Amino acid sequence: MANDMVLWLEEVGKEDIAIVGGKGASLGEMMHAELPVPPGFAVTAQAFRRFIDENGIAEKLFGSLDVNVDDAEILRGAEKTAKKIVSDAKVPVDIEKSIRSKYKELCKREGNEVYVAVRSSATAEDLPDASFAGQQDTFLNIKGETNVVEAVKKCWASLYGARAIYYRVKQGFDHSKVNLCAVVQIMVDAEKAGVLFSSHPSTGEQVTIIEGAWGLGESVVSGSVSPDYYMVDKRNKKIMERKISMKNIMHIRDPKTGKTVELPPPEDKKNAKVLEDDEILKLVELGEIVEDLYGIPQDVEWAIKDHEIFMLQSRPITTINKKKESKDKVATTAILEGLGASPGMAYGEAKLVADSTELGKVKPGDILVAVMTTPDMVPAMKRAAAIVTDEGGMTCHAAIVSRELGCPAVVGTRKATQLLTDGMKITVDGEKGLVFEGKKEVAAKQMAQPQASVMLARSKPITATEIKVNVSIPEATARALETQADGVGLLRIEHMILGLSKHPKQYIKEGKADEYVNELVSRIQIVVDAFYPKPVWVRTLDAPTDEFRAMEGGEGEPIEPNPMLGFRGIRRDLIDTEHFELEVRAFKELIKRGFSNMGIMIPLVQHPSELRRAKEFMRAKGLDISKIDIGIMVEIPAAALIIDQFIAEGLDFVSFGTNDLTQYTLAVDRNNEHVAHLYNELHPAILKLIEHVIIECNKAGVKTSICGQAGSNPKVAKRLVELGITSISANIDAVEAVRDMVARTELQLLLKGARERGK
Ligand code: PEP
Ligand code: MG
Repeated sequence: MANDMVLWLEEVGKEDIAIVGGKGASLGEMMHAELPVPPGFAVTAQAFRRFIDENGIAEKLFGSLDVNVDDAEILRGAEKTAKKIVSDAKVPVDIEKSIRSKYKELCKREGNEVYVAVRSSATAEDLPDASFAGQQDTFLNIKGETNVVEAVKKCWASLYGARAIYYRVKQGFDHSKVNLCAVVQIMVDAEKAGVLFSSHPSTGEQVTIIEGAWGLGESVVSGSVSPDYYMVDKRNKKIMERKISMKNIMHIRDPKTGKTVELPPPEDKKNAKVLEDDEILKLVELGEIVEDLYGIPQDVEWAIKDHEIFMLQSRPITTINKKKESKDKVATTAILEGLGASPGMAYGEAKLVADSTELGKVKPGDILVAVMTTPDMVPAMKRAAAIVTDEGGMTCHAAIVSRELGCPAVVGTRKATQLLTDGMKITVDGEKGLVFEGKKEVAAKQMAQPQASVMLARSKPITATEIKVNVSIPEATARALETQADGVGLLRIEHMILGLSKHPKQYIKEGKADEYVNELVSRIQIVVDAFYPKPVWVRTLDAPTDEFRAMEGGEGEPIEPNPMLGFRGIRRDLIDTEHFELEVRAFKELIKRGFSNMGIMIPLVQHPSELRRAKEFMRAKGLDISKIDIGIMVEIPAAALIIDQFIAEGLDFVSFGTNDLTQYTLAVDRNNEHVAHLYNELHPAILKLIEHVIIECNKAGVKTSICGQAGSNPKVAKRLVELGITSISANIDAVEAVRDMVARTELQLLLKGARERGK
């Protein structure tokens, strides 16, 4: 063990956790084992300590952290003060000299001025093996001696970020006993990167799980991208599963500025597989070596550049060990009750996610627990075995997306985030809307297969009424297609927009409107292409302002007392024509590409003049609407009551949006769990409105459909067929049951007719 303040990684090993933290020690150990670790050095925890002591800032610094961490405002204030104290202090001269000389030596070895990554490796004095993973910051693509010294200081300062302070207080760590080593390593300018688990992270099975995406690994680690997923049987090295995702973002080094930037991957790469089979098997092999080295399963960050694999860090998968120690608790009574929003049962560890910065916590098989899900959580929702939320109703974001992903969900529990804690093992029953502590024994067939295909074991009945499917996220297209639906009765484009990294206005502000239109086109195209030539009704934008505000550049969204009654649907597009025009450009491009199966559906119309103005706008912007189906959502009682006037205006179809029609007819907020008991799609007033619209449309030869949640209820479907609806669009998981019910109802009607004629 060397006792210098700045050490080469090869000079440290697993016994040096107190000096270089877990990350630094593990990298040193991997270097000794000749694993492919990028070269570098560690600015030790003792260097950090001397920095604090020689500047005489200990009292001031630790005193500034003695605050009520439950008050977010006060916590942010403490962060600001502490970071300023660190940044105003000077790095001791000999330590700075050492950092500079080691960096120069790295450059000399490489033959040029190198880019480095500066990562945090924290360690607690009295508990050296405590894990502070993910609490402190990493700085990528740093070049030049002075910048490296600055980045080391920033790493030190990140020990006083709000999240890190909060974590230490809640875990009972003394701030003054936690030190930080900064690991400086040559930056791998990765073409692809990700993580690997050398054994299954939640079950401990003998499989290697690999996740990968384009560019640097940050987007996979932070959970902001949906990575490809590969599972390999370690015993026979067979690749058991490959799930190729749509990868919307990547982090790369900007060749001009040298800074790390976030960009969409090139079009031809978005849906392409990240790893070749030989790369997968090579990674499995490295995972095994590192697991053998430490004697326990590892969670490894990897990167590939010019076909060369690098290992950026490795740490033990602690979750499996815990499982071995404690026998699974057997669940008895439910600890939480909510709405069963997506059917299926799942057992796993609860992971509380406060916002998108915490998505990385959710590993495959975990249960995502949040106040409410937001569109930027979709990548983590895809990894989750189940989802539990405090808020929301059957048609909230979490409910819609989890149904499309085939992931069990319980929403509107009111207190999941208070009652559940990180790592708690729970069983989620998405059918009954219950959450149990521990494992609930269920018939094997009831356990959910996350994202499993909808297997049709028998041939589908032919129905005169078309049975379609709803799609909101492009990732659900394959599952939607497997239902053999007669088309898509609702494609919600706001989920595609909300899935982008920034607000449409931000694209416009940055002069990137074309890029935005391309994003829209490529996402919609996945669905219209998969279903071609079956019809796909694409709905124009219908996003409430509260959801848009959360996006980067969304600060300008108006704050409304009741967003559900506010600036959304067609009323928004008719005012914000700058955005409507971009939607129209995307539609035109799709028509140009030959997708004549696309229809356009206008949401939230309340007066025929809105339909007229929308059509005029689309025509004026060069969209030939005579070639495609144009329709409206009937989701405001006003539209249902004067449907004849809409028909006179000219339309090809209407579709009942019963989620909104129910809330507006009954004055029951659809997302409010406190009035969920009054939310009844079968209320006679709603059925009366629907009946009126079907009668009027049938007289005029206008197609009628339903795309609200009620259409997924076989009982409602039966009633609608009796009323003469043309098509029904259901959720992926409901298509089969609805189709069966429709077939039976049609036969009953035929039989009844024949009997009456025979009388
Ligand atoms: C509806 O209101 O029934 C509907 C399908 O639209 P959304 O749920 O997107 O408001
Ligand atoms: Mg609606």
